[in-house]
Amino acid sequence: MKSTHLIIALLSSTIAMNAAEDFSKPVITKEIRKEKGKDVPYMFIDGVKVHETDTTKQPLPPVVTPGEGAAMTAPPSDAIVLFDGSEKSLTENWTDNKGNPSKWKLVNGALESVRGAGYIHSKQKFGSCQLHVEWASPTKAEGQGQGRGNSGVFLMNNYEVQVLDSYENITYADGQAGALYGRSKPLVNACRKPGEWQSYDIIFHRPLFDAEGKVTRRATMTVIHNGVLIQDHVVLSGGTGWDGPHSASEYSAHADKLPIAFQDHGNPVRFRNVWLRELQDKPSEK
Ligand code: MG
Repeated sequence: MKSTHLIIALLSSTIAMNAAEDFSKPVITKEIRKEKGKDVPYMFIDGVKVHETDTTKQPLPPVVTPGEGAAMTAPPSDAIVLFDGSEKSLTENWTDNKGNPSKWKLVNGALESVRGAGYIHSKQKFGSCQLHVEWASPTKAEGQGQGRGNSGVFLMNNYEVQVLDSYENITYADGQAGALYGRSKPLVNACRKPGEWQSYDIIFHRPLFDAEGKVTRRATMTVIHNGVLIQDHVVLSGGTGWDGPHSASEYSAHADKLPIAFQDHGNPVRFRNVWLRELQDKPSEK
């Protein structure tokens, strides 16, 4: 082989290697512990227990005060507007988890979670996307930890960007506002005060699965909270579902497009100005 050919071959293999995802990172370990006679799953991500509350092992993200100014970002011309504050956009675009009208309330142009109403789902289904959503935790801060202003923004009805009143409210780092629940804590805590409008701008790339249902490319998330980067193209190491107090769900194969959903966690969290731009997967990834 000529040396130029060798170089080209080496370059090609390097590019191919770079293109393939390194599934060995982060390092996930699991164990089962007996607690009160029951088997309880424990998951560790790069050596740190899921929902670790010991801040010497899982430090809390530093607090950053976001800049003043409106959280409102008007939708660009190519956006799909999912909620604009009107009754019409609520009834046309959203349902409960059975496809019936949602019992979430319209309050002063905002969509408010109602205890027991269940998650609210977009009728339209999406895969990879850029999502803008504004939210406000209840003005009267009630409850502690996970019980204060808890909701969630779910991409593909599966992958949760946590919504929580994390203003002077301590909880485990991978469950505070802006966490990819149980998987990735935010880089910083950029939460505004209870009742103040806040924004999430999320760039999400969906996971891909093979014919056997095995994940071949994991999802990625970038999240900007009130103008502050809090998740920097994070590879989701698995699902964000509850799998016990210290374990998160695994990937489970699903459709290419699924609804956006907001969580009913029993707290009257409000949402407004919800819009989305679909992102195309590269042809080779379809
Ligand atoms: Mg939640």
